[in-house]
Amino acid sequence: MALKLFNTRARSVQEFAPLDPAQKRVGMYCCGPTVYDFAHIGNWRTFVFADLVRRYLEFKNFQVKHVMNITDIEDKIIRRVRETETTLPEFTGKFEAAFFEDLKTLNCLLPHEIPRATEHIPEIITLIEKLIARGIAYQAADGSVYFSIEKYRGGGGNYGQLLKLNFEEMRVGERVKNDEYAKESIADFALWKSRGPDDGDTFWPSPFGEGRPGWHIECSAMSMKILGTSFDLHLGGEDLIFPHHEDEIAQSEGATGKPFVKYWLHGAHLLVEGKKMSKSLGNYFTLRDLLAKGFTGREVRYLLLTAHYRETFNFTLDGLQGAKTALARIDECVIRLRALAGGTAAVPNSDFLNAFSAALDNDLNVSAAWGAVFEWVRKINRKFAEDPLIVAEAASALAAWKKIDSVLGIGLIDESEPPAELNQLLLDRFRARHEKNFKRADQIRDELKAKGWAIEDSPKGQRLKQL
Ligand SMILES: [Zn+2]
Repeated sequence: MALKLFNTRARSVQEFAPLDPAQKRVGMYCCGPTVYDFAHIGNWRTFVFADLVRRYLEFKNFQVKHVMNITDIEDKIIRRVRETETTLPEFTGKFEAAFFEDLKTLNCLLPHEIPRATEHIPEIITLIEKLIARGIAYQAADGSVYFSIEKYRGGGGNYGQLLKLNFEEMRVGERVKNDEYAKESIADFALWKSRGPDDGDTFWPSPFGEGRPGWHIECSAMSMKILGTSFDLHLGGEDLIFPHHEDEIAQSEGATGKPFVKYWLHGAHLLVEGKKMSKSLGNYFTLRDLLAKGFTGREVRYLLLTAHYRETFNFTLDGLQGAKTALARIDECVIRLRALAGGTAAVPNSDFLNAFSAALDNDLNVSAAWGAVFEWVRKINRKFAEDPLIVAEAASALAAWKKIDSVLGIGLIDESEPPAELNQLLLDRFRARHEKNFKRADQIRDELKAKGWAIEDSPKGQRLKQL
């Protein structure tokens, strides 16, 4: 079955067909973090969503090139560098490292390319020069270079491909130097910002004088450098639709004269405990805050993946507790299957795979996909209770689960399979702990240890590791 996705540009669900004539290679760009603070749980929703898209495309046998940039120069960063009296690399380096740690904790696959804006200043300058040469960008009296929306539209450019804009209200000739502004004040936006007194040491030489790039041009330059002038997928949070993505389209199509991106996917907002996240309400969480409360990256990932990406999702601490229970149900089932299957190789059970992919093909309907997972768990448990599974069935179910978990990324990992009887002991211990029989649980742990195996509580669940 074909994958269908909601394309913001078309404002409808469309069948996904990559630009590659062989329908194999897919170029995907996701706007990465602005490294001026720890990423919050709303940001993580977007990155986990991008990870799901990439993993599912790979599940569908596409050959994905996943690019995520690091915005390491931008208005907010400049302000914080000034306030903290640090240098730009010192300041951004710390938050970049934290971001990658968190990405790993959430079991997101590392994008294939992770370009930094500060390492692409020449490409950014070249792109701005192209826009000036085409008469779409101009240098203003303040020394900054701006994108002319009037000239772009006059030359046939379509500004407002993602969002319906009211050009009647546009104040022609107005300019905005800030990276962030509201759609009520559509204006010529800055491509290159001339060096100001507040910029400190953060500036680069350019044909337009000393200064630094605007945020929007960074993504155009980096995405087109790596994925080409036209590529398949561009992702981001819905707050990036305007002005960031609208400006990316204008800059890119203005410079190349070619369509920029075929499918635009946007993840919806996240509420926390029913409200917009804010530090003053006490419902502002970074991933680190949640880990400090005793939750795991695996539980956070699971909860973020339970809501459809286009739905506003209410993230709650109760929900995270629920995630623990849900994951324990899956774990128990998988441990039992492993105990029975041992290392037996098998063809994945196609019923389970088909139900799962039919759900995700439908604009990544994760609710239905989880429905298929828990239906499978129920079925396996019923079989265990009534009509014991044979080894081949268990192996086939396990093989299907492995494939499905290559998309969900929440399951138990199994590099070297321990012998079946040891998995049975792990399962017994799992149950003992569930029944709060800690004495028995400790006995089993010692028994396993005597046999040369340790139980590891990894972020992905319990597993056995050879001592
Ligand atoms: Zn971007």
